[in-house]
Amino acid sequence: MIATSARSPDGPAPKISFVSLGCPKALVDSERIVTSLRAEGYELAKRHQGADLVIVNTCGFLDSAKAESLGAIGEALAENGRVIVTGCMGAEPDAIRDRFPDVLAITGPQQYESVLAAVHQAVPPRHDPFTDLVPPQGIKLTPRHYAYLKISEGCNHRCSFCIIPKLRGDLVSRPAGDVLREAERLVKAGVKELLVVSQDTSAYGLDIKYGESTFRDRTVRASFFDIAKELGQLGVWVRLHYVYPYPHVDEVVPLMAEGLVLPYLDIPFQHASPAVLRAMRRPAQGERVLERIRRWREIAPDLSIRSTFIVGFPGETEEDVELLLDWLKEAKLDRVGCFKFEPVAGAPANAIRPTVPDEVKESRWRRVMAASREISRRQLARKVGRRLPVIIDEAGGPVAKGRSRYDAPEIDGAVHVSSRRPLRQGDIVSVKVERADDYDLFGTAV
Ligand code: SF4
Repeated sequence: MIATSARSPDGPAPKISFVSLGCPKALVDSERIVTSLRAEGYELAKRHQGADLVIVNTCGFLDSAKAESLGAIGEALAENGRVIVTGCMGAEPDAIRDRFPDVLAITGPQQYESVLAAVHQAVPPRHDPFTDLVPPQGIKLTPRHYAYLKISEGCNHRCSFCIIPKLRGDLVSRPAGDVLREAERLVKAGVKELLVVSQDTSAYGLDIKYGESTFRDRTVRASFFDIAKELGQLGVWVRLHYVYPYPHVDEVVPLMAEGLVLPYLDIPFQHASPAVLRAMRRPAQGERVLERIRRWREIAPDLSIRSTFIVGFPGETEEDVELLLDWLKEAKLDRVGCFKFEPVAGAPANAIRPTVPDEVKESRWRRVMAASREISRRQLARKVGRRLPVIIDEAGGPVAKGRSRYDAPEIDGAVHVSSRRPLRQGDIVSVKVERADDYDLFGTAV
């Protein structure tokens, strides 16, 4: 939970309590809203009680996320009573109104203007033009040393288990110049790691025909390769998330070998069985993925690949699961997350039969997790004895917690760093790796 309040010459500034739920993309939306509110003189409150208003940015991806969102709205109403709802669940206003008729306003994802208009109506702003409350990089909800950079919105795919295109619409890419200027501001403000996010990062620019825009004194194309290369020249860590294994991704791997972009790809494969992938209507499912991964590793031997998978998708057979397990062994993915299929209201996959019973889903999930844990253990054991640059996320205790270039914040493993000198959050230190377990590394700063 985040909270904001503004100083004004003629009375206390209005205070807003803010709840941000969901994925990094929703977090970026929250940051934009909070930045605008601060610019208008609102303050963030730490608690719902005593705030003038609560904004809940909801997630509507899975039914469990919807339940969490509804819970947060209920809590905000009980503790404060004046609540505005936005985000993915805002695309289903009836589901919210039926349960909570007293919410003041409901707006959908990326409807920043509508959220602000609703706030103005409920609690008018009291802007003090002499007080500059907003730093040029905006208000970040992440720690100061890393930031998510959203390069596009929406998605042109229609995966059968997903309703994001319904909620967020088709792909809309930001001009490259805009993205790079935002990145530059973040770097100037002390950000050491940029995490590039979108629904489909490798499709960046397709909708605007890879159009050119200006950045500094030159023109830049809105293409996956160009944006990765330009970001790589800002002198900070650049990590690519939500990439699909299209052929043009091959062009970006040499940038990793050169050290411009982190040797890390987050590719949500979701499955390996062609039959399941077809039923899921996944992008790039026809590509020869194993061959492609092999080639990438030849170019950038250090490449770390993270992915997520869904088991128990309707129609998934025992053979499909065996195929997935064999594929995982072959692909040797460094980091794997696995989810049990959950029907999302409105998703076409819900009509596919036969469904997989819960206990079967559970046992398949366990098998995939056990196989990927074993792969992770082996991959990490190969790093013992090496010196790796590590970015410190949490300092202060006798052992700091950080991440190597192979790990993203929140979703991947950690490096536990002993050090004789005090370390600070955001430091990038060289660490001699002494030990590894299933998911984490342990070492000493040198
Ligand atoms: S690629 Fe598929 S899962 Fe991802 S947002 Fe688009 S439709 Fe949803």
